[in-house]
Amino acid sequence: LLSDQGDLGVTIFEEITALALQHDAINLGQGFPDTDGPQMFKDIAAAGVTGRLNQYAPGSGIFPLRKAIAQHQERFYGLDVDPESEVVVTTGATEAIAAAILAFVNVGDEVLSFEPFYDSYGAAIGLSGGVHKTVALNAPDFQPNITELRGAFNERTRMVVLNNPHNPTGTTFGKELLAEIVTLAKRHDCLIVSDEVYEHLTFGVDHIPIACLPGAWERTITISSVGKTFSFTGWKVGWATGPANLIAAVRTVKQFLSYSSGTAFQPAVAQTLGSEARFFTDFARDLGERSEVLAGGLEASGMRVYRPQGAYFIVADVAPLGFDNALDLARQMPETVGVAGIPLSVFCHEEGARRTRTLMRFAFCKKPELLIEASRRLSTLT
Ligand code: PMP
Ligand code: GLN
Repeated sequence: LLSDQGDLGVTIFEEITALALQHDAINLGQGFPDTDGPQMFKDIAAAGVTGRLNQYAPGSGIFPLRKAIAQHQERFYGLDVDPESEVVVTTGATEAIAAAILAFVNVGDEVLSFEPFYDSYGAAIGLSGGVHKTVALNAPDFQPNITELRGAFNERTRMVVLNNPHNPTGTTFGKELLAEIVTLAKRHDCLIVSDEVYEHLTFGVDHIPIACLPGAWERTITISSVGKTFSFTGWKVGWATGPANLIAAVRTVKQFLSYSSGTAFQPAVAQTLGSEARFFTDFARDLGERSEVLAGGLEASGMRVYRPQGAYFIVADVAPLGFDNALDLARQMPETVGVAGIPLSVFCHEEGARRTRTLMRFAFCKKPELLIEASRRLSTLT
């Protein structure tokens, strides 16, 4: 039972953010930007509230938003998505992930993900009664070993949960690996749930949605949200796209998780998705520059840094500084040096936690001057 797992009571993000607030530390722990998205979208959301958008939205989302999501998939990836039957709006990507897993995973089914993995996957698989199997992503490049990946599939595998670009490592997965995953999913007749919340946040590489690969669409649910691309993490509007039969099942479960999602935000989110190309490229370039600022600062503090290709996190090894446990360090750092980070071990099962024991994740979706000050503070870590 999930309720028996004391350590699942409070997520690590809550715990570390609370410590950061308590000690007035720079919070490079929880992944949220310190600058809101564009004012014009806030104005649209505000107009929704002062206007008439204060009652339930349709369960699967207002049509203009579903249409904007479908158009976004066509515009960026050439995917032909029917807004009537192949899109569902959810309360953040988190709800889409939970609904997809609860819709298709039965007790005892195996669900495969890479490790480290975003924490909600483990929790949702636990709630479904499924068995979470993992394939390790190891430094320096955090790419899986293909033999290990092939060996992880068997007749009980029901679903693969993929996260590309990847939180927490910042790695991205290329066409060859994605094609291998599709081949394995077909061979073992399992579904793919692809969490692409960082789809627009890549640095020097193109994002490839797995749903675009031959043979993938009919077995893939693709998930994203407004939070990361548009810096509105608190709006909690996400979505899932995929073939009608899979989306219908996600909708059915969503009805009983939240029924529908924040009405007033939905027209604003529809507008964000239609932003001109410049918005997407400028934001990614800006974040790429911030990642360099923080990477340089972490290196100067003596850590070993693994530069990301996407998302907004950097993984750094604190072992060169003489620390052998990043979890303990993360709990002390807000007080001792005034900076918060998240230990990688919390994104892992037991064995993975041992392997990643000295690794720490730092978020760089913060103002450059804050990243510089955080680096200065971290240079006093010894
Ligand atoms: N997936 C990943 C990989 C994430 O990092 C996050 C955190 N934003 C989520 C899902 C949850 O997204 P949302 O806030 O839209 O629920
Ligand atoms: N996705 C964010 C992160 O990885 C946190 C979201 C949350 O607090 N659950 O930091």
